[in-house]
Amino acid sequence: MRGFINRRESPVSEPSRPMHFLETLVAKDLEEGKIKKVVTRFPPEPNGYLHVGHAKSICLNFGLAQRFGGDCHLRFDDTNPEKESDEFIQAIQADIRWLGFDWAGDVRYASSYFHQLYDWACDLIDQGLAYVCDLSADEARLYRGTLTEPGRNSPYRERSVEENRTLFAAMRAGEFDDGAKVLRAKIDMASPNMNLRDPILYRIRRVVHHQTGSEWVIYPTYDFAHGQGDAIEGITHSICSLEFEDHRPLYDWFIKNLPVPSEPHQYEFGRLNLNYTVTSKRKLKQLVDDAVVAGWDDPRMPTIAGMRRRGYSPAAIRTFCDMIGVTRSDGTVDVAMLEHAVRDDLNNNAPRAMAVLNPLTVTLTNLSEDHREIVISPNHPQNEALGERELAFTRQVVIDADDFREEANKKFKRLVLGKRVRLRNAYVIEAYDVVKDAQGQIVEVLAKVIENTVGNDPEDGIKPKGVIQWVSKSEGGRATIRLYDRLFTQAEPEAGGDFMAVVNPNSLVVIENAYVEPSLLAATPEQAFQFEREGYFVADRFDHSAEAPVFNRTIGLRDTWQEGA
Ligand code: ATP
Ligand code: MG
Repeated sequence: MRGFINRRESPVSEPSRPMHFLETLVAKDLEEGKIKKVVTRFPPEPNGYLHVGHAKSICLNFGLAQRFGGDCHLRFDDTNPEKESDEFIQAIQADIRWLGFDWAGDVRYASSYFHQLYDWACDLIDQGLAYVCDLSADEARLYRGTLTEPGRNSPYRERSVEENRTLFAAMRAGEFDDGAKVLRAKIDMASPNMNLRDPILYRIRRVVHHQTGSEWVIYPTYDFAHGQGDAIEGITHSICSLEFEDHRPLYDWFIKNLPVPSEPHQYEFGRLNLNYTVTSKRKLKQLVDDAVVAGWDDPRMPTIAGMRRRGYSPAAIRTFCDMIGVTRSDGTVDVAMLEHAVRDDLNNNAPRAMAVLNPLTVTLTNLSEDHREIVISPNHPQNEALGERELAFTRQVVIDADDFREEANKKFKRLVLGKRVRLRNAYVIEAYDVVKDAQGQIVEVLAKVIENTVGNDPEDGIKPKGVIQWVSKSEGGRATIRLYDRLFTQAEPEAGGDFMAVVNPNSLVVIENAYVEPSLLAATPEQAFQFEREGYFVADRFDHSAEAPVFNRTIGLRDTWQEGA
């Protein structure tokens, strides 16, 4: 009961949904006094940028610590130095902070424990629970058996403790070539769990490590490093995705057989898969390396940095992670659900503004050349706190070329020659002629404003059919607009075997000469807007400036996600 009371008193805002199974578990462990404080960790390998799947794991691990007043550590799982780099280490930290989380204490590294891990490997040798094996990788595979057949003992399995000690020290001293020997645990070559068939603890690899330089030529495996790192840090709940379920007996075997300072436990949850999306760092890296996208933070990438640049807010991503929940089964989530969370957040919070993507000039011939009149536009239809802005209404405005037709049937509720339309928050206008170029293209519409129609219906009773957006031609500015769409054309990009073959060729369309209203020229990078009737857009984090405005389309207006669908 005490744990429960503490929780209620904690200042952290709690989600109103019911607890998921890991929250229930932690609550119980606290209540029963099994643990005094929950300590979790988020353990990324610094071999790529974090993606939306990692966001789920971050929200889970940091969320548990927040909800129950515990700690969450950030530990880089840096046991594969050849694929890792400091660029990734920095980017991962920035992404976690941007998502709204912070880790307890310093950033930690599995590599900080290399000395302790080495000593513990020696400890296993001394107990007769580890041996140096000279089988080549190919031979080891043959000895390993299969899922249906037991493996066979390595001929090196019965080496003496002394010999193993000497050989392991020689491995560390660099006396053997890469791959010539490995250190293995001595468990059970007939185990139905392949992970217990004398798994590898150390490999020889002459690779300079981003943290430890050239101090080591042997590196521990993930399995040997992970649980022991958890034990060193006093992690209570080591949460990983379901594919590690079969590794749990090995995790427990190390904890049981080593003099570790604490006894962590591993728990598994279902990883996030999204349709129309790949969430494997290896595949994301291929998209970057093959220049299919402009980098890890390209707005089409499902990376945290990409979603940020696309205009998704941290709150929207956290809401999405809350919506999908945490369970013990793998499933595929509809990307429309993520888009729904993003759209909902923007609908509530993004100020409205006007932009014309495909500009067509309209000259209002009954206004004087220097006509300049201020009309007031609310920044949000529901949220008055977002205020209003002044827009200059002038003799020439631009509207979207798609909003004008010389002739149209009644379904077309925009501007038609001889008919009326309202310019948003300004006048009703009536078009009466067009100007065409030599190719017959319409280059200008001639129209009249209907007097006294700002905020009023026309006095003659002829109401306009629709409302369209506009920008003053003399006061608005040119902008580059990047229209992003889903990166893959198929719901299951990996289903056909080659995800590169189903990249959407139209996932980015660049519009160079859009017109945007003056307030958008003053936007700061990463500021989000709803461009009326067009969608949600964000000023590009890196490329946008007042002199050369650049906006990315975050998402369209229409919601395609339906609860329960
Ligand atoms: P990838 O397969 O994309 O390379 P990974 O699991 O190798 O991912 P890590 O850096 O090792 O990436 O992952 C750090 C943590 O994030 C792990 O605990 C892992 O379980 C979790 N994680 C990774 N991908 C997902 C996902 N799609 N859904 C939920 N959690 C994930
Ligand atoms: Mg991994």
